Amino acid sequence: MKLLNPGPVTLSERVRHALLREDLCHREPEFTELQQRIRAALLNVYDLDPAEWTAILLTGSGTAAVEAMLSSLVPTNGRLAVVANGVYGERMARIAETYGIGTAHAAHGWTEAIDVSRLDADARQIAVVQHETTTGRLNDLNAVATAALDARLLIDAVSSFGAEAIDFEGCRIDALAGTANKCLHGVPGTSFVIARRAVIERTAARTVYLNLATYLTAQDAGSTPFTQSVQSFYALDAALAELAETGGWQRRREHYRRLMHRVRDGLAALGIEPLLPDGESSCVLNAFHLPKDLGYAALHDHLKRAGYVIYAGQGEFAQSIFRIAVMGALVDDDIERLLGTIRSIV
Ligand SMILES: *Cc1c(COP(=O)(O)O)cnc(C)c1O
Repeated sequence: MKLLNPGPVTLSERVRHALLREDLCHREPEFTELQQRIRAALLNVYDLDPAEWTAILLTGSGTAAVEAMLSSLVPTNGRLAVVANGVYGERMARIAETYGIGTAHAAHGWTEAIDVSRLDADARQIAVVQHETTTGRLNDLNAVATAALDARLLIDAVSSFGAEAIDFEGCRIDALAGTANKCLHGVPGTSFVIARRAVIERTAARTVYLNLATYLTAQDAGSTPFTQSVQSFYALDAALAELAETGGWQRRREHYRRLMHRVRDGLAALGIEPLLPDGESSCVLNAFHLPKDLGYAALHDHLKRAGYVIYAGQGEFAQSIFRIAVMGALVDDDIERLLGTIRSIV
């Protein structure tokens, strides 16, 4: 089966085999080594200086990392501006409100680009999704950073880390949340926050399990406050080595772009239009209007019988779009066969 949903992804054989490494207790030195290797490799993906930045590993899905970032890194009585133009931005607003964080929610329609004039001018921190997986929109973080010169950014990079450009300095990023099982090609179970060390020193403690300061202290000491998903670490370790050996995020982006352009061109030839223009879309996932007379379930089931899993639209888009992600161990031929199968049903 080829997974064209936005994570979990189709695994490479190397990552799949990593799951079979030997049993390991998370209180043994071999675990410490594994954890430190992954933390260093995560910083290396974007050449971040370990003196200034740190990667903190969590056991949980991408949302755990987003929730840890927002609940830990907004100071007590701090005010957070949340920009939302899809499900994941709205989820960040809900998380902040649930923790009682003072939140200015700049709500947008789901196909809208971010309107920087709606940003709260008083907020010192802005939470924004880089790649809004709801629609495939790649939000313009530089525009947000330029419009709010006093603010620092907290980024949901769950579906972009490892495949899109991230301008850590230019965008005044204080932290981002990411996950093992999207553009990094690991398995679900491990997520992470990459943050400036100086920012973590000022954390607020609103939760026990997701408190980043607790994790950082333990992980810097080679330990972990709670049991980690050891097998998911094995997979992420292998996946990060594979990413580095295949040319890093830049080459991965080129690969995704090539596959996605083939998808867009192939579907356009069948009269299937994308939801957003190419220039506003990520390389990772794009959304497409369902052809008239073809419901999502029929398309999904037909493709699944042929060995492909696609993804439905959410909320207001549930009946009108379908989504295709090109993450994971996919090659050009997978896309050609996919297009051939769609041609046969349309
Ligand atoms: C996948 C995703 C998440 C996290 O979803 P989980 O199901 O918790 O892994 C968060 N933000 C974005 C933009 C995503 O695409």
